[in-house]
Amino acid sequence: MYNAKAYSAASATSPLASTTIARRDPTDQDVQIEILFCGICHSDLHQVRNEWKEIMPTVYPCVPGHEIIGRVTKVGAGVKKFKPGDLAAVGCMVDSDRTCPECKEGLEQFCPNLTLTYNFPDKHTGGVTYGGYSDSIVVDERFVLRVPSNLNLAGAAPLLCAGITTYSPMRHWGVTKGKKVGVVGLGGLGHMGVKFAHALGAHTVVFTTTPSKKEDALRLGADEVVVSRNADEMAKHAGSFDFILDAVSADHDINAYINLLRRDGNITLVGAPEKPLQVAAFSLLFGRKSLSGSPIGGIPETQEMLDFCGQHNITADVEVIPMQEVNEAYERLLKSDVKYRFSIDMASLKAD
Ligand code: NAP
Ligand code: ZN
Repeated sequence: MYNAKAYSAASATSPLASTTIARRDPTDQDVQIEILFCGICHSDLHQVRNEWKEIMPTVYPCVPGHEIIGRVTKVGAGVKKFKPGDLAAVGCMVDSDRTCPECKEGLEQFCPNLTLTYNFPDKHTGGVTYGGYSDSIVVDERFVLRVPSNLNLAGAAPLLCAGITTYSPMRHWGVTKGKKVGVVGLGGLGHMGVKFAHALGAHTVVFTTTPSKKEDALRLGADEVVVSRNADEMAKHAGSFDFILDAVSADHDINAYINLLRRDGNITLVGAPEKPLQVAAFSLLFGRKSLSGSPIGGIPETQEMLDFCGQHNITADVEVIPMQEVNEAYERLLKSDVKYRFSIDMASLKAD
């Protein structure tokens, strides 16, 4: 074991603060990565504040972070894909059982024995896993991704969660040219959803509660922008969408969006609000519409998404911050005041 610098929360109400954590020395299959940038996902905030206590109670101290980009510093003897000096990335998962039908299909996100990057039992240390708000991490090479060399690293970090979480359902539900696609909530996930829907050729409509984001939405690739609190603007789109991606982090009226789907249209939830959403049966019945959810994406699809981003030069729009500003960043995230993802420059940890 060795010591790594990190930021952790001691309880649901404590701010994140500087700490030292123990990481394992790389085993034969492991890649040790010096973390250069880590995105701040709204899931980090939900988890740190124990807002998902019913499903995934938080174990403290909690070191969040699952949008990790860095440089390989050491590899185990059995590692084939990486060598010291390579760029490398890690997302929301660091292990799975590799034997279940889901793993065999490359859909590790559905493995019953999945290990998430933080707040999950750590097979190696016996404690819980610690995420990317840290200067280094050690991960089995099967869960380490290659980073296209043309991408800006601070902007590429959020691809590891916000990117794959929006890319995967769009691919699954056939977002392509000729489809009308909605993205609800222009935050970290939402702005990636807009970039992907646009790059995949769909007619893309953004729904936002923040009128001042209109210009940005168009710049990011939206064909139209609807301020969702305006009932008249919403009514104009009734019954017209093939697919809607709902990336809202808080309670909201999902029926308003189900009503915008055409026959057999689908709305996929990627947002994970703390409280259950109310769904009106009739809004689904008429038109045989479907409501589904989608968690991140498997390792092969995550690599496919990164390569797609390399080809199309897609990264997140980021505000780069030092680690020491993480608590202010969380407060701003709650006010939907981020354009459009915070990316922590881990070099700042050296100052602690
Ligand atoms: P974020 O950057 O905070 O964006 C959320 C957006 O939702 C805000 O920018 C805002 O957009 C909208 N919003 C916020 N409060 C709202 C309210 N009360 N009513 C209506 N709209 C509201 O968060 P994120 O990092 O993109 O994450 C979004 C959600 O996805 C979180 O719940 C997160 O935990 C979840 N998530 C899920 C997965 C998965 O695998 N499925 C992966 C990552 C994250 P406007 O200002 O445009 O309205
Ligand atoms: Zn995330």
